[in-house]
Amino acid sequence: MAEETKVAGATAKKTRLRRRLRFLRTRARELKMIGKALVSTKHPILVHIIPMRQCNLACTYCNEFDDFSKPVPLEEMKKRLDALADMGTSIITISGGEPLMHPDLDEVIRHMRRRGMIAGLITNGFYLNKERIEGLNEAGLEHLQISIDNVVPDEVSKKSLKTLDGRLVMLSQYAVFQVNINSVLGSGVKDPEDALKIAHRAVELGFTSTVGIIHDNNGQLKPLGPREQEIFEEVMALGKRSYSRFNEFQHNVARGREHNWRCRSGSRYLYICEDGLVHWCSQQRGYPGIPLAQYTPEMRHREYSTKKFCAPRCTVSCVQQVGILDKWRDPQNLKPMPMTSPATSQAELVQIGQVRGDS
Ligand code: SF4
Ligand code: SF4
Repeated sequence: MAEETKVAGATAKKTRLRRRLRFLRTRARELKMIGKALVSTKHPILVHIIPMRQCNLACTYCNEFDDFSKPVPLEEMKKRLDALADMGTSIITISGGEPLMHPDLDEVIRHMRRRGMIAGLITNGFYLNKERIEGLNEAGLEHLQISIDNVVPDEVSKKSLKTLDGRLVMLSQYAVFQVNINSVLGSGVKDPEDALKIAHRAVELGFTSTVGIIHDNNGQLKPLGPREQEIFEEVMALGKRSYSRFNEFQHNVARGREHNWRCRSGSRYLYICEDGLVHWCSQQRGYPGIPLAQYTPEMRHREYSTKKFCAPRCTVSCVQQVGILDKWRDPQNLKPMPMTSPATSQAELVQIGQVRGDS
């Protein structure tokens, strides 16, 4: 028994050391990424890519999953990653659906790292176990995010502290990549105190924490109530180690204020769906809807200068963080290009504000 405890202690020490080393390497690569982004506006900074639209859960607010689609074949994923690497992309975050359902996920991550890009993953966490975590370690994963919606599962979402806590403990024991726990506030969330409990648990386990805000069902900005605002500020303060502290937009959203910013989606940020099409973001899918292989530098540069009609009410925080790097330059004065895909009409666009996914 004493021998077992000694071995467990040594393993935990080794994991902590490996985590520290990977953190330092990733931070160095992130600083390089920021420098490159400040020097040139010609490459994407962040890309979200979907290798698997299917999800094992069915959160009632979500518009980013189905229960039937097949994984994107590994060779096709590699082609898409190569195209993104050739554009000079700095960070790729794998999202879904549920990416851990993809049979070749580790190899997808390995390929991202081979091509020099920072590798992130957004998951609901249900398929995590010691072996999967070690596989992600070996593949070179650098960031992982899990969104947790409540303390106890309900009819809206099963992503709860109760259902996930065991996996979070496993992550704290075995993961050498950075883990961020995102909680939510806003209309439709039964108990705002849950966000605080989730954030405290995240910090207790050594993770960073962020908070997302959901809109009402009419897609309107609606200020959080006084207690929700207090909780929001508290969670933002707890998350001071994450990049969320640079996100002033979230403070505006919390107060129900529109914000004035330049969304560089389609250029500095890309969303690549399971069909390999480029979209502005998860909440404006269908535009521009051009296959990645045909998405030219000219198209990216045009989107860089295109004013997005949805920007003042936007809650997509990762795109807002990317926007900060170009905030000080190049006003946007172009209108969106006409839709190219006859299969996608304006009516089919997924509109922001009515629904929410994980990112
Ligand atoms: S929010 Fe995430 S876990 Fe829930 S259904 Fe959507 S993709 Fe699946
Ligand atoms: S919803 Fe937000 S991130 Fe998406 S295109 Fe509009 S402004 Fe950009």
